[in-house]
Amino acid sequence: MPTTTLNDLLIDELKDLYNAENQLIKALPKMAKAAVNAKLKAGFLKHLEETKGHVQRLTQAFKLLGEPAKGKLCHAMKGLVEEGAEAIEENDPSLVRDAQLIGAAQRVEHYEMAAYGTVRSIAEVLGHDEVAKLMQQTLDEEGATDKKLTEISTEVNAAALEEAGDE
Ligand code: FE
Ligand code: FE
Repeated sequence: MPTTTLNDLLIDELKDLYNAENQLIKALPKMAKAAVNAKLKAGFLKHLEETKGHVQRLTQAFKLLGEPAKGKLCHAMKGLVEEGAEAIEENDPSLVRDAQLIGAAQRVEHYEMAAYGTVRSIAEVLGHDEVAKLMQQTLDEEGATDKKLTEISTEVNAAALEEAGDE
């Protein structure tokens, strides 16, 4: 079905996010399992729980809009998740690989931040204030996760430098 109204677009964007978040629920346990650094491992597991909450907020948004909660394949997230999986497949566990996983995870968070900002703004202009509020809450959590990953990367990068014996 073509997207003709801003309301159609809002629903399309919610479907994309619903699928993206569900892809992450499958990917994050694998990222956690692969991580060597304890803080990174814990960070992935914490964000897994938050991500389940993101799906719940999306379900609530669909409900508020009187639409069935349904996903539509998010190709971008599929690609981002594949890049993380590739890092795990192609490399043995190491702190360098952890740094690679952080890079993949931060790409995911930035993608989500962009998408939630979009739905928040569209919901706002349509007067769906409750939906806009829910999407802003998730946007804030994605932003906090990104910041946390930057923090962890400082420690991981320094340790990776020693581990790998870079000049
Ligand atoms: Fe999320
Ligand atoms: Fe996230």
